[in-house]
Amino acid sequence: MNFTLYNCARQAINWLLPKQCLQCQSTLGDHEGSVCNYCYVDLPFQHSYCSRCGQNYSAKTDYCGHCLTSQPTFDHCFCPFEYQSSIKDLICKLKYRQRPELAKAAASLLMGELIESNFERPDALIAVPMHISRLRERGYNHSALIAQHLSKTLKIPLLSGSISKSRPTPPQAQQSLKQRKKNLVGSFSLKKNIQAKNVAIIDDVVTTGSTAEEIAKILKKNGVDYVQVWGIAHTL
Ligand SMILES: [Zn+2]
Ligand SMILES: [Zn+2]
Repeated sequence: MNFTLYNCARQAINWLLPKQCLQCQSTLGDHEGSVCNYCYVDLPFQHSYCSRCGQNYSAKTDYCGHCLTSQPTFDHCFCPFEYQSSIKDLICKLKYRQRPELAKAAASLLMGELIESNFERPDALIAVPMHISRLRERGYNHSALIAQHLSKTLKIPLLSGSISKSRPTPPQAQQSLKQRKKNLVGSFSLKKNIQAKNVAIIDDVVTTGSTAEEIAKILKKNGVDYVQVWGIAHTL
């Protein structure tokens, strides 16, 4: 069975079965999201983070030390979870183990926390694009799937194909911060004009913020006034 057929079959089975908690597989109640109420309290929440770059830090100021001296191009970053335990497991399955249907659970976890945080509503969403070579390899863009669910539920338009990854870059995990930044410069390009003024970039995990920074630079150069970054998790 090819991947598309396999994923369709899996989604059909998931739809027929009662909704289960991602963590403990117990049957979920009508008012529970992706995890049951017991597992929800054990999720690795980011309790204290910089409202500008999303980095975890424990001081009492709004911005971290880094952002007090050198601020990113984007204006706000919201990643409600730390990239560990059940959240890391969810994202790894979604990205690397051919489980695109988990994008809905990831979007639902992010959305629950966004609503709780009384978020500023953007005019449009834009998913971090993947280079065509990696997209062909994986068969789907996981960030775009998360963005589609958010767009549908929050009723915020999703800008598809406005920005593309014009040059492939090596996986970021094995690189130094300096190397990541260098690799990403000029790797995205604008494909369609953007009318929105307040845009949220949708990513799965924000690590150094270099990807969001590159996309934010393009958005701001093309008439966007306020750029938010929404990710499921931020690395520590
Ligand atoms: Zn549970
Ligand atoms: Zn910061």
